[in-house]
Amino acid sequence: MWFNKKMSVTQVKFKVVSNPEITKHVRVLTVTSDQDTSFLAGQYYSFKIKDKVNRSYSIASNPGQKEIEFLVEILEGGEGSTFIDHLKSGDEFDALGPLGFFTLENAGALNDENPLLFAATGTGIAPIRSMILHLLKDLNSKREIKLFFGLRFDDQIYYFDEFEKLEKEYSNFHFTPIISKPSDNWKGIVGHCQDCIKKEPVNEFAKVFICGSNTAVQGISSDLMEYGYKKENIFFEKFG
Ligand SMILES: Cc1cc2nc3c(=O)[nH]c(=O)nc-3n(C[C@H](O)[C@H](O)[C@H](O)COP(=O)(O)OP(=O)(O)OC[C@H]3O[C@@H](n4cnc5c(N)ncnc54)[C@H](O)[C@@H]3O)c2cc1C
Repeated sequence: MWFNKKMSVTQVKFKVVSNPEITKHVRVLTVTSDQDTSFLAGQYYSFKIKDKVNRSYSIASNPGQKEIEFLVEILEGGEGSTFIDHLKSGDEFDALGPLGFFTLENAGALNDENPLLFAATGTGIAPIRSMILHLLKDLNSKREIKLFFGLRFDDQIYYFDEFEKLEKEYSNFHFTPIISKPSDNWKGIVGHCQDCIKKEPVNEFAKVFICGSNTAVQGISSDLMEYGYKKENIFFEKFG
């Protein structure tokens, strides 16, 4: 079983399966490897872009799935972004991993039944998607799992459909999609993750996982502490 394997940091060669753009400037890079690529949901790999240039990318797929997926925002002029933007099926590249401690295991949140609250902005959804898919699909968890996922524009949406489908499939999973800069076509919630979390009663036992840009993570975590969430129950990964 994937969760019994010993995780060790290894230099791996990934082979690209596909790398489609799923919305403007965002790609889902799917890779395979002949080597052992066991990981914990929430971890990341450091991609070798070129000599002495590495970039970190969180695994967006769950450990129970054979192929590994990454969700990458392509920033114009960025070295890692340009490298990934040009990857095509059959290409190979080196990476180091799995790395990182933004995991349910490290937070002591895997083996109890307490509620879990996830807040993600943009591609910060990657490690959180991995954790949620792991809980629901690999572990068949019945715990209450709430996801607040914020994107800027409603014409650049990704994964909303998938989470809406999961919400229908798993009665313990609740998904709130949020857009901060909507067009006139957007009929859903407008604002930021913390505006929606504020409306929920605080559960003192809930563990909270936040991921996104430095600014977003900082903003969400400080607002949550103001609402009554304890610092020791808040875990985050900042993408920079
Ligand atoms: C633990 C961790 C996990 C992460 N996971 C993910 C993930 O899952 N998905 C994801 O998308 N990101 C993730 N990141 C962020 C990622 O590692 C990179 O920081 C990000 O992709 C930007 O790297 P880059 O090399 O493309 O840009 P950089 O080269 O580092 O440049 C940064 C900025 O400068 C600008 N810039 C650089 N060079 C030029 C130039 N010549 N002209 C104009 N502008 C320029 C770029 O537009 C960019 O905005 C993660 C970060 C960490 C720390």
